[in-house]
Amino acid sequence: MQLAKVEHRLKPGSKAQHYIADVIGELEGPTIIAVAGIHGNEATGIGAIKRVIEEIEPIKSKLKGRFLGLKGNIPALAAGVRFVNEDMNRLWTTSILDKIRRTKSRELSSIDRVEVKKMLQILDPIVLDSNDEEVIYVDLHTFSGSGGLFTITPDDERHIEIISKLGVPRILGIHYSLPGTSMEYVEDAGHIGFAFETGTHGSREAEDNAYAGLLVLLESVGMINKNDIPDFDIQHDYLMSRVSGYPSEVDFLYKHIIEDGDEFEMRPGFQNFDQVVKGDWLANDRNGKIRAQAGGYLLMPLYQKQGNDGFFIVRDCE
Ligand SMILES: [Zn+2]
Repeated sequence: MQLAKVEHRLKPGSKAQHYIADVIGELEGPTIIAVAGIHGNEATGIGAIKRVIEEIEPIKSKLKGRFLGLKGNIPALAAGVRFVNEDMNRLWTTSILDKIRRTKSRELSSIDRVEVKKMLQILDPIVLDSNDEEVIYVDLHTFSGSGGLFTITPDDERHIEIISKLGVPRILGIHYSLPGTSMEYVEDAGHIGFAFETGTHGSREAEDNAYAGLLVLLESVGMINKNDIPDFDIQHDYLMSRVSGYPSEVDFLYKHIIEDGDEFEMRPGFQNFDQVVKGDWLANDRNGKIRAQAGGYLLMPLYQKQGNDGFFIVRDCE
């Protein structure tokens, strides 16, 4: 009910409001697009992108390629909610995008669709029309639980080759169970797209992890030289310390889908990568106890009201 009140006074953002910065290096190189806040309650990535820009703006003459930082859902960010009418990160399928492009903003069925339309006005010329230049799209997210950081990575060689250089755990195949994420749009266009889940919503650590991860990514694809970034080695070592002890690559096994009226409630105390066995009591809904349907590592236990993914279970790759 509270949401309806929030929604009433929210207006879609302008195209200009989506830009954090667009840093174009003087040397040839890939384009990295970093997006934060496609879920409006996940704003920490914005601070991380700003810190990266502070580092690279002064060395533009040596920068190889382009770094574009964008904000996702402007009205949801303003209200601190995941989305306004519908999840902005489930709308990027080919057919919905086509409809959004063909429809005037004021005739779109949700505020979140208007936000997608504004993003497409920025992204389409880069993602769809670039002449074979490498585009790497990083979608920064945070989670409502706690524990670790990880990437959600398409299961193909090109993606794994680039994303593995980050050294952050890779969750393979989970995106097949999350249709319509913005990484799908980038991947369909033949580019590299992945989600980077950096920590708990609003935490300093989530911002630090995103900042360190972005720096390591820029260095690993040759956009920056680590000698030009004074604290590069510190950030690299910090990132490695944050991921030690976690599996480097796991496969998606299943997710618990929350349906309207379920009254889903995760039991307290679960963290990412907690090991569970089949039958473990993980959550409750109006019909009773929800038990793990298989053993593996628990991922993204949901400790907030908005969202339809209760938790995921992943397992070591075979
Ligand atoms: Zn998110």
